[in-house]
Amino acid sequence: MTDCVFCKIVAGEIPARVVFEDDAVLAFEDLNPQAPEHVLVIPKTHIATLNDLSAAEAPVIGQMARAAAEIARDRGFAENGYRTVMNCNDHGGQTVYHIHMHVLAGRALSWPPG
Ligand code: 5GP
Ligand code: ZN
Repeated sequence: MTDCVFCKIVAGEIPARVVFEDDAVLAFEDLNPQAPEHVLVIPKTHIATLNDLSAAEAPVIGQMARAAAEIARDRGFAENGYRTVMNCNDHGGQTVYHIHMHVLAGRALSWPPG
């Protein structure tokens, strides 16, 4: 999608600090980190929100989750732990309409979220 910031990162039109890539998934450091470690894992194809995920596209969520776990191991926070979050639409706090999994780590995270 031409005016999507994450599609532009996938296309290399906007720079990002990439930490993981495979055929289906790209992961990069969040521009405005909310924890000492804050990585975004995205599908390379444009899917606007979780509500728009088709059955055919659903396996990419598993690939994103596996990428998150691999990133956690590689960056050394798998053992202490981390949080994965996917925000959906306004009440979920979604601001970029290309689905993404936040991977947050490096400090104890409170619950419930605000
Ligand atoms: P959301 O609020 O949609 O769940 O999360 C969007 C995330 O994307 C935010 O944490 C925000 O900091 C991050 N973000 C927005 N634009 C960019 C960008 O151009 N580059 C990177 N690396 N992160 C971005
Ligand atoms: Zn997109």
